[in-house]
Amino acid sequence: MRVILLGPPGAGKGTQAAGIVEKYSIPHISTGDIFRKNIKEGTALGTKAKDYMNKGLLVPDELVVEIVKDRLQEDDCKNGFLLDGFPRTVNQAEALNDSLGEMNVSLDKVINVDVDKEILIERAVGRRICKECGATFHVKFNPSKEEGICDQCAEKLYQRADDTEETVSKRIEVYLNQTQPLIDYYQDRNILVTIDGQQEIKKVFDEIVVALGA
Ligand code: ADP
Ligand code: ADP
Ligand code: ZN
Repeated sequence: MRVILLGPPGAGKGTQAAGIVEKYSIPHISTGDIFRKNIKEGTALGTKAKDYMNKGLLVPDELVVEIVKDRLQEDDCKNGFLLDGFPRTVNQAEALNDSLGEMNVSLDKVINVDVDKEILIERAVGRRICKECGATFHVKFNPSKEEGICDQCAEKLYQRADDTEETVSKRIEVYLNQTQPLIDYYQDRNILVTIDGQQEIKKVFDEIVVALGA
């Protein structure tokens, strides 16, 4: 199963990714997670990406594409993968096509998680993430049992530096200009399925499973 999760910031991609990769036993490849890990570890890549991320801008294509290309060559991607947050520009989508072509594989589905703009800001600003395992919660919509503590590993939850109202607004604008064109791009290739992301988390998941046909 080779799948892309598409959708604006706060749509629920990461939340749904957790369930999908478990169900289909495929790796979760989140370019945002890769950048955050690099920032935390102070790598050269992290240093290059940080300013763009904090401003709500996309990291330049050339930095992102190579990372994903390399990641897709790893053994655990042989039977499939779930891309979350990549591609985000038509240029990235074309580079992905080239890579997959070289590997003699193709995408099965692109799941477009659709959520109204007004809801996205509240979702992202209330988002809390586990420092240890990356599990995602929401202070109001999906609270952890104990405030500030992960249900799964009891570690502390944190708020992303770019989950402020101002930066999220910018990220939504960037999404509309640079990423939304991918909806038509994949629609034209007949692999796009749009899911209403404003339903409860479980319902969204069930509809994704139906769309993936398993
Ligand atoms: P993305 O990866 O698309 O940016 P997340 O999966 O991190 O989005 O979700 C953003 C926030 O919204 C998180 O705090 C998450 O708990 C919450 N959330 C995710 N899906 C839903 C949903 N269906 N209903 C309400 N809140 C949700
Ligand atoms: P969200 O789903 O909430 O937008 P992500 O974790 O996917 O957040 O991405 C966080 C930030 O990382 C983006 O705002 C952008 O700066 C950078 N980023 C992640 N993926 C990409 C990508 N494919 N291309 C360019 N920048 C990216
Ligand atoms: Zn945890």
